[in-house]
Amino acid sequence: MTPRIGFIGLGNMGRPMASNLQRQGYALTVFDVNPAPVAELAGLGAAAAGGAGAVAAASDIVVTMLPDSASVEQVVLGAGGVLGGLKPGSLVMDMSTIDPQLTDRLAAAAAAAGCAFVDAPVGRLASHAARGESLFMVGATDDAFARVRPLLEAMGTTIHHCGAPGTGIRTKLVNNYLAIVSCGFNAEALALSQQFGLSLEKTLEVVHGTTATNGQLKIAWASKVLKGDTDPGFTIDLAHKDLTLIVAAAGATGVPVPIAETARASFAAARADGFGGRDFSAMVDVLCDRAHIPRPRLASD
Ligand code: NAD
Repeated sequence: MTPRIGFIGLGNMGRPMASNLQRQGYALTVFDVNPAPVAELAGLGAAAAGGAGAVAAASDIVVTMLPDSASVEQVVLGAGGVLGGLKPGSLVMDMSTIDPQLTDRLAAAAAAAGCAFVDAPVGRLASHAARGESLFMVGATDDAFARVRPLLEAMGTTIHHCGAPGTGIRTKLVNNYLAIVSCGFNAEALALSQQFGLSLEKTLEVVHGTTATNGQLKIAWASKVLKGDTDPGFTIDLAHKDLTLIVAAAGATGVPVPIAETARASFAAARADGFGGRDFSAMVDVLCDRAHIPRPRLASD
């Protein structure tokens, strides 16, 4: 039987992911504190619930796609939350990027309530989510993985079963360390190129032909900040949140990450400059504004 799906958190990522599930024939019950995306999903045929507990009561599998650890803890474990409303035998799949120690607590609380738990954070960008082309890093038992796999196939193209619950979120922190720190050093390198008065096109042509190239610069930036589009996407606020998680998780396990600490300070300064809500590729605009040099932009085709 097709499971009834609850979906909580309909932001830049959750809204397109839930829309893809609804379009592919799943019966969704949705909730977000922001009524606008709830109305949009209702327009596609989803049922709107008044809170997390009500979503859980109407669902066999509840997906959470929330901004941070505090919101996930409140929505899943808090009063009127998911675990209070779920029937035993149901499943919670958290797809947010959060503190792995909270993931471990969620898995234990779900088990105590007789429910399964899966952590399945998402790789790639919001534009991929919109096209159903996301990548998922899944921590789950084999049984739970088999239950969520069809949903993941409806929302993305690449699914990695990383191991037991908790391994998906830890893989995500390793991935985001590389993705976000590279955004930080790309910003510095391109600001320097602007300050030198170099051609942006020629600079990119050179670095894309050497080991200096990286996915942020080549894939993400070319269609975002370098085209003048800094709408999120993935915000500088969320990138700062992830670097905070990475530094804390590394600290808790005794791994020194001085480059992540420096990148975190740079993202914190960008937020102080008012860029927190912009796409994380806009880190280069922050530095160019500070240096009073033009923001790098590719000529439009
Ligand atoms: P977002 O801020 O756009 O969306 C979060 C949504 O959750 C918002 O609609 C907000 O109203 C809702 N929300 C917040 N608190 C709530 C609560 N208590 N109850 C119900 N709804 C609540 O964030 P996003 O970009 O969609 O990211 C979601 C998660 O996915 C984050 O953990 C982020 O780090 C991760 N992520 C984002 C991207 C990306 O490119 N944006 C990519 C991969 C992973």
